[in-house]
Amino acid sequence: MIQQLSLKLLPSQAASDTTIIGEAAAALGVKSSAITGFHLLKRSIDARSRQVYFMLTIKVFVNEPFQERERIIPIYDILPANAPQAIIVGAGPAGLFAALRLIEAGIRPIVLERGKDVRARRRDLAALNKTGVVNPESNYCFGEGGAGTYSDGKLYTRSNKRGDINRILSIFVHFGATEKIMYDAHPHIGTNKLPHIIVAMREQIINSGGMVLFEQKVTDILTRNNQVTGVSTADGQTFSASQVILATGHSARDIFRLLHQKNIFITAKPFALGVRVEHPQALIDSAQYHCPTRNEYLPPASYSLVEQVEGRGVFSFCMCPGGIIAPASTDPGELVVNGWSPSRRDNPYANSGMVVTVDETDFAPFADKGPLAAMYYQQMVERDAFTAGGGQFVAPAQRMTDFVHNKLSATLPPCSYLPGVNSADLRDVLPVSVHQRLAAAFKAFGRKMKGYYTADAILVATESRTSSPVRIPREDDTLMHPQISGLYPCGEGAGYAGGIVSAAMDGERVAERIVAFYHA
Ligand SMILES: Cc1cc2nc3c(=O)[nH]c(=O)nc-3n(C[C@H](O)[C@H](O)[C@H](O)COP(=O)(O)OP(=O)(O)OC[C@H]3O[C@@H](n4cnc5c(N)ncnc54)[C@H](O)[C@@H]3O)c2cc1C
Repeated sequence: MIQQLSLKLLPSQAASDTTIIGEAAAALGVKSSAITGFHLLKRSIDARSRQVYFMLTIKVFVNEPFQERERIIPIYDILPANAPQAIIVGAGPAGLFAALRLIEAGIRPIVLERGKDVRARRRDLAALNKTGVVNPESNYCFGEGGAGTYSDGKLYTRSNKRGDINRILSIFVHFGATEKIMYDAHPHIGTNKLPHIIVAMREQIINSGGMVLFEQKVTDILTRNNQVTGVSTADGQTFSASQVILATGHSARDIFRLLHQKNIFITAKPFALGVRVEHPQALIDSAQYHCPTRNEYLPPASYSLVEQVEGRGVFSFCMCPGGIIAPASTDPGELVVNGWSPSRRDNPYANSGMVVTVDETDFAPFADKGPLAAMYYQQMVERDAFTAGGGQFVAPAQRMTDFVHNKLSATLPPCSYLPGVNSADLRDVLPVSVHQRLAAAFKAFGRKMKGYYTADAILVATESRTSSPVRIPREDDTLMHPQISGLYPCGEGAGYAGGIVSAAMDGERVAERIVAFYHA
């Protein structure tokens, strides 16, 4: 028989297959020897009480041959020479998953990416971290794999209504991700592993007959009688197709400007703005696991915090246990930070974005920019941060307690941010509506989580690319832009995703619309 059951185990017990089998046998009233194997279906940590437990849901095979885990195996055939084709602008998760889905359906994707392949891109990231010089075409946001490649690779999403999360996770496993992402409550791949997975995806696209072209920055969207006919690129090439997916991410400001100039309808969109907070990981472990030091069987602890302050949400975002704060800027003179962690999450710091929602009341000074008002507001804050840091992507920073008391920090604690930090008054950087709410929230978070509100925590500005400042509209049924037939706004940049998994799901959804178009 095959049985599904839940187990509540100590961390050391959950680390041992023999113990799991023993506990399962006891729960089922059978001998351990009758169990031929098991699959983990779900694994989460319950740290609500002093004793921390692992909660497991398992599928157990009793007196039955053990079967491999069932998983969706995508089939990518070689495309025929006469396969219809579609252009995909942007090789982020949205663009890559769209390309793979098109191949499954017999459509040839032509992926145009402004940045470089993962290997060449890595050199530009090293230069940014060491010398404080950003390449506007190759950075933490632009290049093969998009903003997801050198990210934390957390693979959870709240938007499970938009697509099949298991399908996305299965495809990641197919291209080399660990099977653990299929059952961990908070699946995570890690910056060191993601590039290999992205390369495997690219190789599959090419081996099937698709194209992935790097350093091809799309500078125009070509149309005739409100029907898209193709795109042209910075080096003067034209690519023709009647179906174009625009998956350029939240940082492609030139694309937002282009659409606005061409009178292609877009709207300003609220986003969230704040700082990246970094604590010693040991402090977060101790607070979350209620013990002076972390048990060797527990992963570095994370947190998720939210507080309403004066009618707006203040919330933690993209928490990276054992992580690094990274310079995520795309342009000289603008300072943006984000976070990543390696698969082992073994850096001594815990960072997360701590952000406040900003909306049209904040963008009002830029009302003359129309639908680009939120983008200009975002850019203003990033420029102020660059100036306050003193240049070369040195980031303005403040101790958490000094920030709350409006005091310049005399010294700063150690920080993982490689270009360096400079003590600054973050009131010079953050709008008052954001600064005041963050200050109130930090005190409230200190009451919720012991030790969180501390002088040992450093705030680094700015966390400003939390989502797109622009929405590119699309029809609910066709997913095409309402004005331009054949143009599919897609992923985070268009306002339809907020993370790797939701962007991947959106890429698949849009691809399915193109499949429906060709097979109609
Ligand atoms: C440091 C960092 C850490 C992150 N950590 C996580 C995490 O742990 N988990 C998570 O879910 N999300 C994380 N994110 C966010 C996540 O990466 C994004 O939500 C996701 O990548 C969005 O996917 P996308 O395909 O819509 O856009 P993007 O990934 O932004 O991809 C857009 C692509 O389009 C290309 N492009 C832009 N303009 C043009 C043009 N004109 N011509 C051609 N190509 C163009 C860009 O170069 C880019 O490659 C992180 C982001 C960063 C920067």
